Amino acid sequence: MTRVFNFSAGPAMLPTEVMEEAQAEFLDWHGTGMSIMEVSHRGKEFSVVAEEAEHDLRDLMGIPDNYKVLFLHGGASMQFSAIPLNLTQPGDTVDYFNTGVWSKKALTEAGRFANVNVVAEHTTAIPDPSTWQLSDNAKYVHYTPNETIGGLQFHFIPEVGDKPLIADMSSCILSEPLDVSRFGMIYAGAQKNIGPSGLGIVIVREDLIGHARPETPVLLDWKTQADNDSMYNTPPTYSWYMAGLVFKWLKRKGGLEAIGEVNRRKAKKLYDFIDSSDFYHNPVRPQDRSIMNVPFTLAKPELDQAFLKESDAAGLKYLKGHRLVGGMRASIYNAMPEEGVDALIAFMKDFERKYG
Ligand code: PMP
Repeated sequence: MTRVFNFSAGPAMLPTEVMEEAQAEFLDWHGTGMSIMEVSHRGKEFSVVAEEAEHDLRDLMGIPDNYKVLFLHGGASMQFSAIPLNLTQPGDTVDYFNTGVWSKKALTEAGRFANVNVVAEHTTAIPDPSTWQLSDNAKYVHYTPNETIGGLQFHFIPEVGDKPLIADMSSCILSEPLDVSRFGMIYAGAQKNIGPSGLGIVIVREDLIGHARPETPVLLDWKTQADNDSMYNTPPTYSWYMAGLVFKWLKRKGGLEAIGEVNRRKAKKLYDFIDSSDFYHNPVRPQDRSIMNVPFTLAKPELDQAFLKESDAAGLKYLKGHRLVGGMRASIYNAMPEEGVDALIAFMKDFERKYG
């Protein structure tokens, strides 16, 4: 069996160790004679899986006791709607940073329910805090710490006073240490650093729960989910189980300090190479570059197809940039081994030598 290096932005590669573990207990979970996929979410087997996953995530991220952790359906996008429904009443104002495609989607959805004030807007550099237009009466401030498509990342937590700060961490959660206590609510789709798609993780401070609008669909009300341990209806059990295996893998790797160091090293190598070449280009201001998603273009766009074809043949998969921006993108989440980045750089060097 050959495992390729898969640079997909999501669903993205998962650690081979985790896949092997899941495979080994696929038909018979812990001697029960059943797959964990086949048992009741309320049974004793799954309860152990669910509780351990939450416990391990709390441990990894240092989540304070006054935060609930929810394992939900609907990925990250469901929360684009849930956030304004849980935290605003009609006519309220909310603050959103617009730093790219995902910020825009989040704020467009929020605009269906509340008045959106755009704090700052830029897609290749994080706007300077002196230019931010925070509103006095916002119910919360939302931002996307890592823009998956643009490869733009906040490397600091925005200072927003006493307003709840809300972060879409879909493409950066668990990639480095984080002070959760600075946030009102954090959410993420699972399919990059956590597990299979469809699962959404919500980490929400308790005082923000219980204020949903009366018309909020019951599954989107954080109170329903918190009161029922994310089991008001049947949760995505297999994804939850896979997330639990990934959390244990991360703990074995040394947690977020250790993986953060590896992630920064991987990203630096790739950016250093891109910057050293006249053939490849990354448009993001250096201090705001993402350590998870590295977009780049070729000096000769007519070579894009050849680049994709040859890299694919070399076992370097899914390097095509997002359809909205073109070019290339290498997503290098936690599960991408450093050798994958080394192999990509070696390929890029060869390609440049051949065609540059
Ligand atoms: N936010 C960000 C930053 C993302 O990268 C993505 C997925 N690429 C989403 C939201 C949407 O996630 P989902 O498909 O789980 O709704």
